[in-house]
Amino acid sequence: MTALDLIREKRDGQAHSDAGIQFLVRGATDGSIPDYQLAAWLMAVRLRGMTEVETTALTLAMAASGRQLDLSSIPGRKVDKHSTGGVGDKATLVVAPLVAAAGVPVAKLSGRALGHSGGTLDKLESIAGFQVDLSIDRFIDQVRRIGIAIAGQTSDMVPADRALYALRDATATVDSVPLIASSVMSKKLAAGADAILLDVKCGRGAFIATIPEAEALAQALVRIGTNAGRETVAYVTDMEQPLGRAVGNALEVNEAIETLAGRGPTDLEMLSLRLGAEMLRLAGHPPVDLRRLLTDGSALRKFAELIAAQDGDPRVTEDTSRLPAAPVQQPVTAGAGGYVARADALEIALAGKALGAGRDTKSAPIDLAVGVVLEKKIGDPVEAGEVLAVIHARTAAAARNVTERIAAAYTVASQAQPIALLLRRVTKSGVERLDT
Ligand code: URA
Repeated sequence: MTALDLIREKRDGQAHSDAGIQFLVRGATDGSIPDYQLAAWLMAVRLRGMTEVETTALTLAMAASGRQLDLSSIPGRKVDKHSTGGVGDKATLVVAPLVAAAGVPVAKLSGRALGHSGGTLDKLESIAGFQVDLSIDRFIDQVRRIGIAIAGQTSDMVPADRALYALRDATATVDSVPLIASSVMSKKLAAGADAILLDVKCGRGAFIATIPEAEALAQALVRIGTNAGRETVAYVTDMEQPLGRAVGNALEVNEAIETLAGRGPTDLEMLSLRLGAEMLRLAGHPPVDLRRLLTDGSALRKFAELIAAQDGDPRVTEDTSRLPAAPVQQPVTAGAGGYVARADALEIALAGKALGAGRDTKSAPIDLAVGVVLEKKIGDPVEAGEVLAVIHARTAAAARNVTERIAAAYTVASQAQPIALLLRRVTKSGVERLDT
């Protein structure tokens, strides 16, 4: 078998054998298949698709391409939570301490910001001293001790995804259901949890723009998890507008802390409670009044414990002025009155990235303080001259640079309704509509 055989097979719309997929993943991992052949194969997959059997085989081979975590020494059923990537999506920072406070162990490996979408590790690094690079032993020991750890994937895990993802990024082959599904699930399987909860983002600020496509991706993710023996549930949730109000690393940590203290924006709190309850169910834990854990301080205390365990300054949970702050805050105002009909997540994310909150390559530096805070969201009434959003920038010139872009991200119309956040819940038994 050669890479050429596999490219030809997929180009002609045929299905690969297990052995073929293993050959390809081995070649991507050890470099024996050159990038130009991998790139051609990725495009063939992007155009021709993959069967469920192929996608599962690809995922399992990728998961096995490097180190896999064994969480069996942590008592209880471990549940992982993962978002496919969005704008202002700080839900992990809320949900993880929330369910840990309820008694469910959370061993979470997270990623960094890339392109327009944010990353949990960068957000956590806006807390002074916070250490995201933990050894596997320290990571597991911390979960055993305090019930929660959030760290970066070690460099020896899922090397096949690293190789393939970099090529996908450079060949317009990111937006393929089998490729996204195998990329996400290979990392989840290697991370060792017993059950997996996925938040598939859908809309302008997500990799997937439409509900039917997001539903198809959610179903593919659930099928792979189920085939691999891990109970998997996927939610499809809105990403037309940013989640919550804050976009930008320290700004999002600030909002997560507010939410953990029971004072967060309604949409972020609602999503966190829903995903938290689902994690409890997946963990086989009896239902808990999670809202109470936000208002009685338990969830925020658990977050402080997490921060302290990972060498960060836990005082930030009581005094958010300890987070990095941008020197310039400039409002963007509405030209006309009416109702907000659009607050485009992608445009707002790109403005945040232009301010320095995001990066194009994995090693590029990031400005943790800058970003955008939305004062108005879809469905809100607004008067002419009222503030739509506040830009947090390093300099006045940087703020001026993105003012027009933020203003253009908004549409104010004579009428508009709030849009649904929770769209679908997908399990192995089927698809439930949540937006009716
Ligand atoms: N997140 C991933 O980990 N992989 C993808 O392909 C898309 C989103």
